[in-house]
Amino acid sequence: MRKLLVLLCVFIAGFAASAKAGPMPKPMQVAVGVAPVEYFARKIGGQLIQTVVLVPAGADAHTYEPKPSQMRELSRAGLYLSAGLEFETAWEPRLKAANPGLLVVRTDQGLARMPMPGGHDDHHDDRHKAARDHEAEMDPHVWVSAANVRHMAARIAEAFAKADPTHAKVYTANLAAFQKEIDAVDAELRSAFAGIPADKRGFLVFHPAWGYLARDYGLTQAAIEFEGKEPSPRRLGALIAQAKTTGVKVIFVQPQMSRRTAESIAQALGARVLVVDPLAADWAANLRAVAGVFRSALR
Ligand SMILES: [Zn+2]
Repeated sequence: MRKLLVLLCVFIAGFAASAKAGPMPKPMQVAVGVAPVEYFARKIGGQLIQTVVLVPAGADAHTYEPKPSQMRELSRAGLYLSAGLEFETAWEPRLKAANPGLLVVRTDQGLARMPMPGGHDDHHDDRHKAARDHEAEMDPHVWVSAANVRHMAARIAEAFAKADPTHAKVYTANLAAFQKEIDAVDAELRSAFAGIPADKRGFLVFHPAWGYLARDYGLTQAAIEFEGKEPSPRRLGALIAQAKTTGVKVIFVQPQMSRRTAESIAQALGARVLVVDPLAADWAANLRAVAGVFRSALR
């Protein structure tokens, strides 16, 4: 009897708690292509959204294609937050065919794109080879810049508020909080890169994914890869000679890519090879870490 009473109390308490909270609102199903965009979406959507990330951690976004299981997940999503990557624009018609109700939001819309280093028609980059149109020759790695992310975050908040007007105020407040975080990251990076002498502001990177970061903080990025592949010995020689004159001490490689070439260049230059991932899930921690390793390599 006593046991029953306890059970009854637990039952009533549980009922009261759930009654007070009201019916659980159904979180919005939000799909994104790459992990940093999920970071932004979570900051703004919090508990009101559930996310699906297409490109798995450590995978190469350039060669990515959605798996059938992901297509099924996508068919349940209401919103897709695109960063305008090649695979995203290439797959958009199929995503929409599989899920006609899917609203695709270009978070990068309105951002000024820079050309990829290595330039235009004479230097076609295989990794960005949807390059038939002009846009694809522009640098797609927009999220490595705090300034760009401010813009992307505002687009995301606007999309959430439109899709779920009941919680518009929450999204606006979350956006304001996230903008503060972005400002803090930006200020930290600005001061981390501020003291670096002009002749040490160059860096090499296998795949040039850090162009917008370089732009923001006055660094100079040069790519090791050529047309998306390992450079020829001759090209490599020219690259090393160039890097010697500009005093390069830092070489970035992505974990998704081979570091063999980078290591041999590093030896020739007395530079350090640092593994940094432009697709890391914790965007803020990642940019701070990049600034930290860059500085420490110059010591
Ligand atoms: Zn890329």
